[in-house]
Amino acid sequence: MTVPLNIAELELTEVEDALEGRGCERFHARQLYRWMYKRGVTDFGRMTDLSKDLRVRLGREFTIATPAVTSDQRSSDGTRKFVLEFADKRCIEAVFIPDTPSMTFCISTQVGCAMGCGFCLTGKMGLVRNLTAGEIGGQVRVLAAATEMLDHPFNIVLMGMGEPLHNYDNTMKALRILHEEYGLAVSPRRVTLSTVGIVPGLKRLAHEPLMPNLAISLHATTEEQRTALVPPNRKYPLAEILETCRHFPLKRRSRITFEYVMLSGVNDTPEDARRLARLLTGIKAKVNLIPLNPAPGIPFERPSDDRVDRFAQILADRYLTVSVRKSRGQDIRAACGQLIVEGGTKKSAAQQMALLMR
Ligand code: SF4
Repeated sequence: MTVPLNIAELELTEVEDALEGRGCERFHARQLYRWMYKRGVTDFGRMTDLSKDLRVRLGREFTIATPAVTSDQRSSDGTRKFVLEFADKRCIEAVFIPDTPSMTFCISTQVGCAMGCGFCLTGKMGLVRNLTAGEIGGQVRVLAAATEMLDHPFNIVLMGMGEPLHNYDNTMKALRILHEEYGLAVSPRRVTLSTVGIVPGLKRLAHEPLMPNLAISLHATTEEQRTALVPPNRKYPLAEILETCRHFPLKRRSRITFEYVMLSGVNDTPEDARRLARLLTGIKAKVNLIPLNPAPGIPFERPSDDRVDRFAQILADRYLTVSVRKSRGQDIRAACGQLIVEGGTKKSAAQQMALLMR
């Protein structure tokens, strides 16, 4: 018996080719895309503008794999954290953040993450596996349907679990699928890709026809400090990342966002702020300061508001655009760097705890 082809993994032209290869009309691909992405329907039997015969045939030869929602937690501030499960029972988290200023989905690109940033719970899990393009796009389909956003514009940030440039091809294919006009038609201007700075990935990204906004997770102002906080800095040092950013092709009026998690007594001094401003000279940059969301097992503390304000003021005085990220969904651990799926790695609760305490 042949295995049904999973349409969730296919771009529109691939669906057209697959249909044609089976003797069906290519235009049905557009209808399929509309049902899947604009109406959130994945049951071929409910696709009523297709003939009954075709629906039966599609049901035999195709499938539309869709992550299952196993948990949907709501924060008092409106943020919703979803745990989504894939066919192999692996789980990831995806977050809906309302009003920031528009609706945003924060989605994952990997189960776990190999980067091991010292302040991040996901990093403690290690990498379990890459997500496929269909699994990345599927998160948006599921969240848009669950939050009744299928018909509304929304932003996507690739800031959930995983390093998107460490899963480059699948991430880019997912963005092409989501961009398709018969589907969700998400403009790349509404997508932000956040990376620790995998330099070969950044260089490839510079040539992408569908280029998302770029955010670099910087978090430190010296090589030594950054290597301690963001271990991939050993391979792709700060200086090389910033040099790549200096040559990154940006559209008019767009800037690269530099994310800076503020850790009390570690990287939050006035000297750090001055050094950061110097490092960003010559780059069209804006800085997003993220006071740490403390969590058990993370050996850092959040700086005081005064310290954050002082840091921000030093940058602003040097003509940098600065924002301080409001923490969302802290009561459901949906905030930045706090995504971890207990049990997702099939470790016992005790093993998970041991991992967190390392
Ligand atoms: S901060 Fe991002 S890149 Fe670093 S370990 Fe966490 S998920 Fe991975």
